[in-house]
Amino acid sequence: MTMARARAPEIPQAGEQCLLAGMRCLGQGSRMLSDYHTHTPLCHHAEGAPLEYAQAAKAAGLAEIGLSDHNPMPEAFDDWRMAREDLPRYLQWVEEARQAMGDFPVRLGLECDYLSGHLPWLEQTAQMAPWDYLIGSVHYIDDGVAVDDPKHLSRWRNASDLAWMWERYWQLYAEMIQSRLFDIHAHPDLAKRFGLRPAGDLRRFYEASIEALAATGAALEVSTAGLRKDVREIYPAREMLEMAFAAGVPIVINSDAHRPQDVGADYAQALALVRSVGYRSTLRFEGRRRREVPLPETWPTAATSTP
Ligand SMILES: [Zn+2]
Ligand SMILES: [Zn+2]
Repeated sequence: MTMARARAPEIPQAGEQCLLAGMRCLGQGSRMLSDYHTHTPLCHHAEGAPLEYAQAAKAAGLAEIGLSDHNPMPEAFDDWRMAREDLPRYLQWVEEARQAMGDFPVRLGLECDYLSGHLPWLEQTAQMAPWDYLIGSVHYIDDGVAVDDPKHLSRWRNASDLAWMWERYWQLYAEMIQSRLFDIHAHPDLAKRFGLRPAGDLRRFYEASIEALAATGAALEVSTAGLRKDVREIYPAREMLEMAFAAGVPIVINSDAHRPQDVGADYAQALALVRSVGYRSTLRFEGRRRREVPLPETWPTAATSTP
């Protein structure tokens, strides 16, 4: 486990208990949350420069911010990711934010679409910059068909099409984890974004992904973005989180902010959820290495965003 480059001062909070008897108390910064899933205008559907996200994170009481814009593809691919030629600009923006923020850690990440036909490109991408972490996502389940794209909503209206969509989504999600390309796996049940779910117990869809996470040791994202979507729920569903906890899968709470005011959005709710399932720790990333830090007991509601 590595030390963070810029550790928060070791000041235990009033009344804070040491986690382990005989060990020094972990510092205040260790008991704070981070936000590693945020975007920039380079992906054409987000606003705010990395420095503004970092300032918002500091103001919200977070310990760290990480930028993770949508990954470039070798050639023009769709209209919601950074262009390949914009990657240097992205790296420069994050570096500028880092310098401007002094001791406040600004991490460099990327949200990569898992596309089974582009694995060599994703491997190449992992070498393109000194990433602190890589986030993997499944949006596309078929050529040009993204599960979170409202233009495809009419496709999932009947039960058999919806069942196919969910099966395909979860098959790819498990494959993505098995690829071992990513540190954090994003918005797990994104397929529910519009509130469309097959009937019955949905745990059968989660099983393969939980097994893959347990086998690889990689982290699952708990995303508050779903609260801002039609489904109005955190990703993943509580049942999946319970399975993840039982299997020893680590979690990271993220907002998937596409504007600075959504940094740390609804963290009180996310923290309450993960704690109620049993989680007591989360992960911090630097240079694609991670360390475990304790979760805070509560999070101020004031740190959530206002619409
Ligand atoms: Zn986005
Ligand atoms: Zn995202």
